[in-house]
Amino acid sequence: MSDDNPTIFGKILRGEIPCRKVYEDDEVLAFHDIHPVADVHFLIIPKRLIPSLAEVQPGDAPILGKMLALAPLLAREQGLTDGFRTAINTGRLGRQDVYHLHIHIFGNKPGGDPLKVMHGN
Ligand code: 5GP
Repeated sequence: MSDDNPTIFGKILRGEIPCRKVYEDDEVLAFHDIHPVADVHFLIIPKRLIPSLAEVQPGDAPILGKMLALAPLLAREQGLTDGFRTAINTGRLGRQDVYHLHIHIFGNKPGGDPLKVMHGN
């Protein structure tokens, strides 16, 4: 499923490098970001390689829907009970670093500070 995936997330999927797992099933893996920008910051990825949101095909709709539907469930499990942010960085100008589609889910624990507003640089 991830044999020909050259990205760092391919290595994670193949177990070549470790991750702190949040959730896994046969289609999806979620794990904590190695450089968190908030109290909690994890990524949801499809096991099948989709390089970018810009390269999504109509047939990818079910897996995208599944990933998005998992986001609030996993966020709650990780303690984000008072809100969180999602982001899908796409392409060079969208500051995508890893070309394996991923949803960022990040937020502070209840009682913490709201996230800073997004800015342009
Ligand atoms: P992008 O900029 O592509 O949207 O985000 C890629 C994310 O992957 C970054 O937030 C980065 O910290 C995270 N990341 C990069 N390499 C690794 C890794 O080896 N392990 C984990 N857990 N996260 C990683």
